[in-house]
Amino acid sequence: MQRRSEFLPFSPPNIGEEEIAAVVAALRSGWLTRGPQVHEFETAFAMYTGAPAALAVSSCTAALHLALVVNGVGPGDEVITTTMTFASTANVIEHVGAKPVFVDVEADTLNIDPNRVAAALTAKTRAVIAVHYAGHPVNLGALRDICAGAELALIEDAAHAVGASYKGSMVGTSANLAAFSFYATKNLTTGEGGMLTGAPELIDRARPLALHGMSRTAWNRYQKEGNWYYEILAPGFKYNMTDPAAAMGLVQLRRLPAMQARRDAIAGMYDEAFSRLPVVSTPPVRDDVVTARHLYPIQLDRERCGLERAEFIAALAERNIGTSVHFIPLHIHPYYRDTYGYRPGDLPVAYEAYRGLVSLPLHPGLCDDDVSDVIHAVFDALDSAAT
Ligand SMILES: *Cc1c(COP(=O)(O)O)cnc(C)c1O
Repeated sequence: MQRRSEFLPFSPPNIGEEEIAAVVAALRSGWLTRGPQVHEFETAFAMYTGAPAALAVSSCTAALHLALVVNGVGPGDEVITTTMTFASTANVIEHVGAKPVFVDVEADTLNIDPNRVAAALTAKTRAVIAVHYAGHPVNLGALRDICAGAELALIEDAAHAVGASYKGSMVGTSANLAAFSFYATKNLTTGEGGMLTGAPELIDRARPLALHGMSRTAWNRYQKEGNWYYEILAPGFKYNMTDPAAAMGLVQLRRLPAMQARRDAIAGMYDEAFSRLPVVSTPPVRDDVVTARHLYPIQLDRERCGLERAEFIAALAERNIGTSVHFIPLHIHPYYRDTYGYRPGDLPVAYEAYRGLVSLPLHPGLCDDDVSDVIHAVFDALDSAAT
């Protein structure tokens, strides 16, 4: 067995001296909470994506929650979403008192299948939350047609998709709202953080809700020319981003094109190496998109290679390669399974894909030797199973 000398972690954050200096400068500035750095980060992020408006928040989960609230989704409503996602996509639907309706995915991209969305519409459907899985944009054209026809809000969970585009338009420029994540493992990180982008009238409604529902922020109130008076316009949330986080985000945003180029190069090396492996399928990239390459999920043909996914993950771990699984479909988690009575086979494409899914390390900190260690470990693990 070949084993690299040190464990290769799945997804460490990519933080350098520039980010550290920017955070220190923010700490020295005296503004610890939402202030000038957050404002600048919102402006820079809107410029980068071409979004008409942007609101920086404490997480993507917060951004998704706000998106549902400002679209008026509440008790009695249904929201259609994909089962192949992280828990927050559906948890926020529960937070507003609505019912998540999980639908199946396309077999190639593992993105929400527009045909299944159309089939799941009822008189109660109010919104669709689509996830750009692994950074590959969903079929926005088909989803927009369905949502326009049924007067539904199309909300994008863009946690994986900073920098991605669909038919030449950047993700985040949608007619409704898109929610980005800056969690530690994401393509751009502020430690914890998120951004809501999209229609200015919706962002204007979300802005006070992200800070208690107050009519003015601390930044407005504590300036010399500020005013102590404020009004509570709604029972809002505590979802603001902080200035040190935004300072980190500004540096990460400047570095993003170079970091994305490295992700592309690594994914290209994997694509080429694994094209020779009939027992593994690699993530596809459609002609009309630019993918953000957040993840590199491969699907193992368990029967042909004689390995279960757990055995394959263990074999890679033995070879000092860290991996992960994206995602355990939401409809098989106890809460959603028991509350709504789902069985695994109810969403068969997602469930079958899940049984062979493994995400390989893909981040800009990998050098060429690391990438070839991963490739060799995959071949070696499959060879050992075959002999
Ligand atoms: C990471 C992630 C989230 C949550 O992001 P946070 O910023 O941690 O709230 C939501 N959806 C998907 C698909 C994710 O991968």
